Amino acid sequence: MPLDDTTRAAFAMSLLGALDERRPIAPLTEVTPDLTVDDAYAIQRLAIEQRCNRGARIIGMKIGLTSRAIQQALGVDEPDFGHLLSTMRVADGGTVDLSTLVAPRAEGEIAFVLGSDLPETDCTEADVLACTAFVMPTIEIIDSRIRDWKLTLADTVADNASSGLFVLGGRKVPVDGLDLRTLGMNVEVNGDLHATGAGAAAMGSPVTSVAWLAATLGRHGMRLRAGDIVLSGGLAAPNTPKPGDWMRVSMQHLGSVSVRFSGGEGN
Ligand code: MG
Repeated sequence: MPLDDTTRAAFAMSLLGALDERRPIAPLTEVTPDLTVDDAYAIQRLAIEQRCNRGARIIGMKIGLTSRAIQQALGVDEPDFGHLLSTMRVADGGTVDLSTLVAPRAEGEIAFVLGSDLPETDCTEADVLACTAFVMPTIEIIDSRIRDWKLTLADTVADNASSGLFVLGGRKVPVDGLDLRTLGMNVEVNGDLHATGAGAAAMGSPVTSVAWLAATLGRHGMRLRAGDIVLSGGLAAPNTPKPGDWMRVSMQHLGSVSVRFSGGEGN
């Protein structure tokens, strides 16, 4: 049975409190074991509306749980999605103060920037390619307001798909002529190679991942529009940044994007 509006709103407020105070909360599904994924998306929407009321703007979407390993760990066979807000964006080469986050992790992925609206229904990979203005390498700094990342699908969905911050960088490259499945990625932390990956880690292809999102948003009465940024899913295991760390993600043909991590004042 779906949760009533009051309970959904209370969960949204408690996630917002955790975000503001950087104090994680118990999994929502521990408190309410029959919380459904539909409830969770409704909670996500309520929390996003509140953040927009405070001045943030929706500038795109992210796709999460795109790797087989993460889906298996959560016992699901589908990804999920969250909203990207203007307040989540960090400049290429910028610094992220880790004390503003709860339990951050960082990963490399491909961002799509749309040149035209995607179809609301029956969106294909060809539509995604035709509607993409360019792709860019991205660092996504994921975070969880759920204590110790002890989450189920519904918990992460309610928590905006464990979004934190993101950094776009490198070059704006049109998708024509790129094979995003085999496009390679190196992740360096403090100059040492941390991980390697390729586009296929995201649902077999980042293009498939974006087509999945368009179709899924259509079922929620939403649509991807020209100008939207879409993070298509991590391409390698995330790292856990420490104060003083420097991270660079380099992608074949796309250049690189980097970020520094500080621990608050004096770091
Ligand atoms: Mg990600």
